[in-house]
Amino acid sequence: MKPTHVEHIGIAVDNLEESIKYYETILGLKCYAVEEVAEQKVKVAFFQVGDTKIELLETTDPEGPIGKFVEKKGPGVHHIAFAVESVSEALKAAEEKGIALIDKTPRIGAEGLKIGFLHPKSTHGVLTEFCSKS
Ligand code: ZN
Repeated sequence: MKPTHVEHIGIAVDNLEESIKYYETILGLKCYAVEEVAEQKVKVAFFQVGDTKIELLETTDPEGPIGKFVEKKGPGVHHIAFAVESVSEALKAAEEKGIALIDKTPRIGAEGLKIGFLHPKSTHGVLTEFCSKS
C-alpha cells in the first residue's frame, strides 16, 4: 500500500483561465488537457511536472465540493493524491487502521483513474487521495 509517488496535487482556483496563464507564463509549464468531471462539479486543467501532475480545479457549481471549499477557505491547495497499486486495497488498509474514509470503494476520477479519498479529520488536516490506473 506504500505509495509510489505523488500522482497529483489538487489546487482549487476561482478562475481557471487566469490560473492556467500563471502556470504557463510564470512557471513555464504546459496545460496539456482541460476536462470537466461532472460528478464532482469541476473543470480540471492538467500540468505534468516530472512524475507529478498539478490539477487546477474550478467549480462548475457553487454547491459543489470545490465551490464550497473556495467559499470557505479561498483558493489554494485542496488535496494531495498518492499513486498506489490498488485504491481499494489502500482504502481498506487505511480503514483497518482507524482512518475515516470519504470513499469506501473506489470511484472514477479525472483521466479515468480509480480514486478514493481519506477524510481530512483523520489525516492531520490534509485531504488525501489514492489513485491508480486500474
Ligand atoms: Zn485529485
